[in-house]
Amino acid sequence: MDLLRETLTSAAHEQGFVLVGFARLNPLSEHEAFYRRWLADGGNASMTYLAKDPELRFDPRRLDARYKSVVSLGYPYAARATPTVDWRAEMRGRIAAYALGRDYHDVVKKRARAVGDVLRRLRPGSTTRTYVDTGPVFEREWASASRIGWFGKNTMILNREHGSYFFLAEIFTDVEFDATAEPYRDHCGTCRRCLDLCPTGALADGYVMRSELCISYQTIENRGAIPRDLRPKLGNWIFGCDICNDVCPWNDDHASDHSAGDLMPRLPEMLALSEEEFGRRFTVSAVKRAKRRGLLRNVAVALGNTRNPDAVAPLAHSIEAETEPLIRSHAAWALGEIGGSAARRALERALHDRDTAVRREAAAALETN
Ligand code: SF4
Ligand code: SF4
Repeated sequence: MDLLRETLTSAAHEQGFVLVGFARLNPLSEHEAFYRRWLADGGNASMTYLAKDPELRFDPRRLDARYKSVVSLGYPYAARATPTVDWRAEMRGRIAAYALGRDYHDVVKKRARAVGDVLRRLRPGSTTRTYVDTGPVFEREWASASRIGWFGKNTMILNREHGSYFFLAEIFTDVEFDATAEPYRDHCGTCRRCLDLCPTGALADGYVMRSELCISYQTIENRGAIPRDLRPKLGNWIFGCDICNDVCPWNDDHASDHSAGDLMPRLPEMLALSEEEFGRRFTVSAVKRAKRRGLLRNVAVALGNTRNPDAVAPLAHSIEAETEPLIRSHAAWALGEIGGSAARRALERALHDRDTAVRREAAAALETN
């Protein structure tokens, strides 16, 4: 390894990155046909930004003609073993491990920028630009081109040592680096655990993710109603989903124990969060991306999935007191899942709701009860 790469790798390690790779920028033409087909098949669901300026994704030199190389970085986060609690009895939701603690965008970007600063100091006059889950940039494709891992069937970048529990960051630069030499072999082999155990069937053969079926997409990116047939499959996930990471054998050694607390918050308390309380609780957390209306919509669905009669009172209260129709309509669905006379009474009241979607959900729920 030449001195520049060595110094930069040490600087990245000092910033907490466990994976560092280098690639020359060439058009990612082998990914172009795959990506265009995925878009044409609607794989991006409502994430229209993914269809914007795809040419920039295939060749970042269209963003800035000076770029010659990319430095790909992996920043680890702790996988969490599922706490041994009965989430239905205790009415607890589940939050994806990456969203615990401070929003990773802020943390990782700051650290990746510090690595870019070192590069500019070592090569005065050079230019760097850092991306962390932002901008029209292929992250996983560059990570695999930089040999920090392989593109797994769960559509994550996997590394033999670190599994898939790391965030990616990219530094594009006009400094010329040679590519990291050895190709990173695919170690999925004949395994298909992630495909078989995804509760919604969102992963398809050929390394394809159908976003509209994915719990992460539905609980974070979808701003509207969650399709009815998917709701029971969400289980208690209220922000993201870790299943296709958790079940991967390459992550076996990485899960640390964690108490239910912030990983599995109590759903009735979450359903009662006011806008101010939501802001206070999630201001520095990735969870704020779902916004209160999205998160509480998910909470209502999870409460329905508990099938726990104790969930009727908070759901019925939400239908009476909640101002957001999206949350009230999902609370109505949830009451239908739980059933019983108290749920039916609340649903009958909801037939007179001021919002059509709530009235429709209440009527549909009553039909099945
Ligand atoms: Fe399936 Fe969950 Fe993975 Fe999405 S995040 S593909 S729903 S296992
Ligand atoms: Fe690959 Fe198996 Fe991991 Fe899926 S679960 S990403 S198939 S190793």
